[in-house]
Amino acid sequence: MSKPPKIIKLGYHDIEFSVSSELPDGTTGHYSQNHRMLVVSKDQSPQDQVNTLFHEVVHVAWDLAKLEGSDEHEERVASVLGNLLTEFVSRNPGLLRWMQERLNESD
Ligand SMILES: [Zn+2]
Repeated sequence: MSKPPKIIKLGYHDIEFSVSSELPDGTTGHYSQNHRMLVVSKDQSPQDQVNTLFHEVVHVAWDLAKLEGSDEHEERVASVLGNLLTEFVSRNPGLLRWMQERLNESD
């Protein structure tokens, strides 16, 4: 199993990334806008780690795009899109390979 990268590049930021067992109980992930840091809890299934990563990436996108809405609305969007993206990548491995090939093609 490969190690997670230390940096996630998204928008105009490099975000420090870690998979850790040091989050508070019941917390599956955390994104700090001020510290540009995204943490996913190691204390969950591998599939749930991916789901949490997508969830937190939606929070990053929310900040980058300066989207408006209540905290409850942001949380709902992060949950719905996080779940949907997790299903998308887990159920379509052939499509993911095809996409990666397209993205790696030189111009
Ligand atoms: Zn959230």
